[in-house]
Amino acid sequence: MAAEHIRQWQIGSVQVTRIVELFGLVDAPGNLFIDGSPEAVQRHAWLAPHHATDRGELLLSFQAFLVRSQGLNIMIDTCLGRHKTYEHAIFAQVQSQFLEDLESIDVPAAAVDRVLCTHLHADHVGWNTQWVGTQWQPTFPNATYLFDRGEWTHVQAQARASAEMPHHVSESVLPVMDAGLVQLVEPCYRITDEISLVPTPGHTPGHVSVHIESAGQRAVITGDVLHHPVQFAEPGWRTHFCNDHQQAQETRRKFMRTYQGRDTLVIGSHFAEPTAGWILRDGDAWRFTSE
Ligand SMILES: [Zn+2]
Repeated sequence: MAAEHIRQWQIGSVQVTRIVELFGLVDAPGNLFIDGSPEAVQRHAWLAPHHATDRGELLLSFQAFLVRSQGLNIMIDTCLGRHKTYEHAIFAQVQSQFLEDLESIDVPAAAVDRVLCTHLHADHVGWNTQWVGTQWQPTFPNATYLFDRGEWTHVQAQARASAEMPHHVSESVLPVMDAGLVQLVEPCYRITDEISLVPTPGHTPGHVSVHIESAGQRAVITGDVLHHPVQFAEPGWRTHFCNDHQQAQETRRKFMRTYQGRDTLVIGSHFAEPTAGWILRDGDAWRFTSE
């Protein structure tokens, strides 16, 4: 992916820049959703052309956001990374220019001050580290990496239960721990006066979204509270990747009630171009618009 996919939003005095690693991936609904089908996607005509094809396939992106607030460069998630052990075949397609794209907006890796992972899944922690010589090293050597304390506890418990660390934890999480760069934070942690975390558990126990408020303007970066805009219309749809379906559904509905309307720009972590828009009430559920 390349610089041509970079997109920026201004929220008061906060600037958010999208860095894309996988752009507009076309995927069958069944690969993401337990409950989804092409026919069910096609019933929500507003999804085309940005978020679904005419045939009811999903469009998805894998991307991160560089947030500039009060003098800090804050990375929200770090995508898939390079040379990682990918669990899913589609990720092997990644030919990312992630660091080059960051440099093109005048943020070399050494200038990143904070890294916030919304949760510790493989597609949100990848560029935490890079392979240098014979080992994984922190990609952002001057950053404090912020992980939710409960999320880290959950990952450790999972690893104990299976007697094995998942590849993405040993490749992309433990090396930054070992380097002493991690700060474990509470779910409502405030990064600056303008940027705070919002607990949105369910996809994972310590999942957080990111609330931005500056000069009377508001935005929220979703993380994986939902994966695709079809879930505005179908908040009950379960994915194959959520930890607690019941909690994920409740969190999604609460998220939509909280952020519906034109006061809050919603920036979707996996939403294809144009990625940001507004949640509008639509009957018993919602829909999403970028206009
Ligand atoms: Zn994800």
